[in-house]
Amino acid sequence: MQTRQVVLIALIVCLILPIAGATDVIINPVTSPNGAVLLIVDGLGSSYFYPEFVPHDLDGNELMKAEANDIMLIADGGARILDVRAPQPRTTLGHSVLATGYSRADPLLVEFNDATIFDAAHKHDYLCIAVMQKGDFETLRAKQDAILFDSSNSIKTPAADLESNAQVPVDVIELMQEWQNDVSSYLDGREGVERYAAYNRWGIDASDAIARYMRDHHPDQKFLLTVNVGAVDLAGHYMGPERYIELIEELDEDVYKLYLTCLENNLALIITADHGMTFAMTEKGRYVGGHASEKYAGVVESRRIPLIASGPNVRIDVIDGTYGQEDVAPTLLSILDVPETLQHSDGNIIPVKKYANLRIIAESPLKITLQRNDATLYSITGEDVTFIGLAPGNYTVSTGGRTMSVNLRSDQVIEIETSSYDKTALAAVMISTIMIGGGLTIRRITRED
Ligand SMILES: [Zn+2]
Repeated sequence: MQTRQVVLIALIVCLILPIAGATDVIINPVTSPNGAVLLIVDGLGSSYFYPEFVPHDLDGNELMKAEANDIMLIADGGARILDVRAPQPRTTLGHSVLATGYSRADPLLVEFNDATIFDAAHKHDYLCIAVMQKGDFETLRAKQDAILFDSSNSIKTPAADLESNAQVPVDVIELMQEWQNDVSSYLDGREGVERYAAYNRWGIDASDAIARYMRDHHPDQKFLLTVNVGAVDLAGHYMGPERYIELIEELDEDVYKLYLTCLENNLALIITADHGMTFAMTEKGRYVGGHASEKYAGVVESRRIPLIASGPNVRIDVIDGTYGQEDVAPTLLSILDVPETLQHSDGNIIPVKKYANLRIIAESPLKITLQRNDATLYSITGEDVTFIGLAPGNYTVSTGGRTMSVNLRSDQVIEIETSSYDKTALAAVMISTIMIGGGLTIRRITRED
């Protein structure tokens, strides 16, 4: 009884007093995920399994496609974005773009403060864990709390390595050590395609075990698990299109159990790639695959990557339009309801979520009124207010005598400045905000009172 009274009094105080700091106003209750698994399938071009596309080799000959029935089933339960292009179809750069949401990112940028999804997640007390066969590099590894990775980048002689910091519970480290030692049991006695498929399976199984363990034993600890499986890419480079397709089909079966783990544990699953793959026939009459060199980098098969998102708050839809790999990072943060901007991002949130959040930041407490169709939804005095769970659509925001309309399709931030800059300086500020805003669409307006 006493608790209820305290809560009531606290609520009344909140409503009366101007509020310093951040305030969340829940307009409609939302179901945020408990975390996310970001699965990066190295070298997986969507051209080779999306039903809408037909892949071609460099000479324009049609190639066969994979039957990725399970991945398409996952897509049917969430959002599948049709056309997503990797701006820099290389492994290290692709992973840099995925981490930062910036289309020209490189490993140097990944090192910057507040540059990556991992920095944003850490601000909200997430644990960042990774299992990466390829695509990891020093600055990316440094952003993880724990990472199991293959330092050899070789299926022939894999060398599973483990790095971690003190934030990670000891039992989680022990579990990761078990998986580190388990790689040979997957690969021993296997050669060729079978070995490649087993290598991927080890990466998926390790990730699945970690995700499940985290939910079972540390249910209150949110986490972002980044996974890279490398064998589809390697098959593309060295074994030609038929084996490449075979590896996609093998992976397809393995991914489904990871999806079920996510589904049962209220975790978001995002499936994407660092780049695609293009095949060229050599003079000797055999196919080789590539994506990074000049010959391949401009080709659609090298650039077009899958993007499939599922989670408790993700819409079921196939999303048209052209998007970039730089949009993946801000979209992931939006799904997690982590309202952070990525400092250098030029990506946009793809509207995959069932609702949108609107954050309004002022330099000092202001009366903020949110309206829809001339009806007031909420009125509050604050300097950093996030309205949560808004249906996509048109809204009116009034602050200190100024009114603006907002077309809300995905999460948005409006910064209200009381600025003494002259108009040119202000324009510069606004432009730079748009350039570097990324992550969340930021609108900065000036209060003229
Ligand atoms: Zn790659």
